[in-house]
Amino acid sequence: MRGRTHSAIVIKRAPYREADEVLTCWSWDIGKIRLLARGVRKNESRLKGALSPLAWLEFDVVPSDHLPIIAGVRRVASYSRAGRDLKRVALVFTIFEMILRATPDRQPVRNVSLLLRSALDQLSQDGPVASEFLLVFRYRLLSALGYQPRFDRCSSCGRSLKSEPSRWSPSWHGIVCERCALGLERISILPAVGVEFFTALENSTEVFPQVMLDSNLEPLLEGWLGGVFQTIIERSLNSSPFLVKHA
Ligand SMILES: [Zn+2]
Repeated sequence: MRGRTHSAIVIKRAPYREADEVLTCWSWDIGKIRLLARGVRKNESRLKGALSPLAWLEFDVVPSDHLPIIAGVRRVASYSRAGRDLKRVALVFTIFEMILRATPDRQPVRNVSLLLRSALDQLSQDGPVASEFLLVFRYRLLSALGYQPRFDRCSSCGRSLKSEPSRWSPSWHGIVCERCALGLERISILPAVGVEFFTALENSTEVFPQVMLDSNLEPLLEGWLGGVFQTIIERSLNSSPFLVKHA
């Protein structure tokens, strides 16, 4: 049997049978994959200490009828500083969870790999973590998957929109103008200041720019974007355009 190598980060571990684990990983070459770590829960396992969630790892795997089996693992880059306090650990697991939910199996998306690396770099830096870290990450993840909301144009009639409150429509999968929003259900409104924030993010050359967001606004924008994320991800993972676009 011919083996192969994947450079990947472990985003989820689940116990399997009496001593094994199934690892869900994000890999550069084929995106989200599941690998079998045999015997990893035995005390004498060589894999045990090597499977840090805060590192890019290089896995040698061999195919099997079930899941590819890990034959060896090496550490490529460590992000242990991204886990140096509980707040950071919670953020790491939240971004892993977002990637887990938002990406299809076995489809590489280079921008997701780059975003994940930037996010872990960001969490490894000195100083406090910006309060809008998750908000920016969520927006960037939608962008990386080709689903960031467009604020400049109505998704329904194409009319150009200025800095006005934005009406997100799940039916149109985007922002609609006031006129088109009439009669549509489940419209969620984003205030103009939110439009400005996301537009500034879109235009920034930095992945995690230094932005000063009012502390009252952050939960509001996170709530809005969280709802958009949920709708988009649920629908797109079940539709074929996603599969074609990222094939
Ligand atoms: Zn319109």
